[in-house]
Amino acid sequence: MRQPEQKLIFELSQDGRIGHALPELDIPEVPVEDILADECIRKEEPGLPEVSELQLMRHYTALSTRNHGVDSGFYPLGSCTMKYNPKINEDVARYPGFAHIHPYQPVEQVQGAMELMYNLQTSLAEITGMDEVTLQPAAGAHGEWTGLMMIRAYHEAKGEAHRNKVIVPDSAHGTNPASATVAGFEAVTVKTDERGLVDLEHLREVTGEDTAALMLTNPNTLGLFEENIEEMARVVHEAGGKLYYDGANSNAILGIARPGDMGFDVVHLNLHKTFTGPHGGGGPGSGPVGVKEDLVPYLPKPLLIKEEDHYTWEYNRPDAIGRVKPYYGNFGINVRAYAYIRTMGAEGLRKVSEYAVLNANYLMRKLEPHFDLPYNRHCMHEFVLSGRSQKKLGVRTLDIAKRLLDFGYHPPTIYFPINVEECMMIEPTETEAKETLDEFAEAMIQIANEVKEEPEKVQEAPFNTVVNRLDETRAARTPILRYEKNM
Ligand SMILES: *Cc1c(COP(=O)(O)O)cnc(C)c1O
Repeated sequence: MRQPEQKLIFELSQDGRIGHALPELDIPEVPVEDILADECIRKEEPGLPEVSELQLMRHYTALSTRNHGVDSGFYPLGSCTMKYNPKINEDVARYPGFAHIHPYQPVEQVQGAMELMYNLQTSLAEITGMDEVTLQPAAGAHGEWTGLMMIRAYHEAKGEAHRNKVIVPDSAHGTNPASATVAGFEAVTVKTDERGLVDLEHLREVTGEDTAALMLTNPNTLGLFEENIEEMARVVHEAGGKLYYDGANSNAILGIARPGDMGFDVVHLNLHKTFTGPHGGGGPGSGPVGVKEDLVPYLPKPLLIKEEDHYTWEYNRPDAIGRVKPYYGNFGINVRAYAYIRTMGAEGLRKVSEYAVLNANYLMRKLEPHFDLPYNRHCMHEFVLSGRSQKKLGVRTLDIAKRLLDFGYHPPTIYFPINVEECMMIEPTETEAKETLDEFAEAMIQIANEVKEEPEKVQEAPFNTVVNRLDETRAARTPILRYEKNM
């Protein structure tokens, strides 16, 4: 049954109903005209809703449950790691000593916060196998751009400013070619072979003396580990290019493999994915960037350094690419990530990846008999199915995603990566119980059966959400966010 539509708070309003109780005025009342100029005084009442306290409470409590989140249900969104954010991270981020400091406080007063940031930098350097880390970038794409600007500065310093091409596999995350373009490079696509990995022959063809870097998402967006990384690193390094590792989603490799050991020169991480920062509503995120020694001079300034037992900001960095963000990054997300790393420990982080990979493979094998599996290999933290058999019966992957809403699941990522027809990209994450995976698989299998037996049901879904199918473009481009009285 369709969930009832919810009235706006304005529609609940009854003239004269009061939901608050203010104490009696015990000072002389001052007319507003005595304090404000005439043009500042509103000519009519603001039209605020008038409801009882209980109505107000129910209204917002109901609204808060209208949005699907990891805390309310399974959310297998491929590439983006919608995993559980342990609540202890939130508690720690709210400690007054962290929450109430100001970035311009003298360093002597904020040594504890700086120690946390320094330890986080050091932990991330250890996890990725890099020499130095900056916490400044505010998101993954921002980290990519920061890394590429450092690579540009490095080539320029060597008198090789002509290197203007960044090689990006077609299985990369979409931000990679975009960041390369914004950083002033030309993005060159390298193809994926029939096994879902970078086509080495093609890589050799496109690599040359104009190559600035190769950007690799690994595991790639098909959920596959690039097997020929060392050879790729050799090809690119021999041509004089740098290797960039998109580690936004590192959920499959923590404590198991390190980009630094594979030959990468730069890596970014998304603390709001792998390291349990919440990432709804557009932020704040954090995309720290780690580099190898020869790129350290170009790291954004100021750089957080430790001098004996004292933490300080190093501003005197003549080769730095500059500042990439006001202040020092999104500190609250740093606190959450550090709390996560410390509560998990090295052993725990490795387990995260082991379970993430196990859960993905378990689900992949359960669904394999019912959907096409274009790359039938051991997957990492996510896998890609194709709905092309269902499409032949007139049901699109979009319909399957809509039908999943009726079962209370957030659908997986669909139609990405673009090199798989009608694809669904599923990432269960490490924190889901076997029963949850089984129930989700059952829902998917039921939908696969419906496609054969009663396709209209899937084509017309969802049935029990508040609204059916939106004009998604209009909903995003021209949302109505303002209540007009008597509309
Ligand atoms: C999410 C993601 C990005 C982009 O990160 P943002 O914080 O959204 O800018 C880049 N690469 C990969 C592989 C990702 O999953």
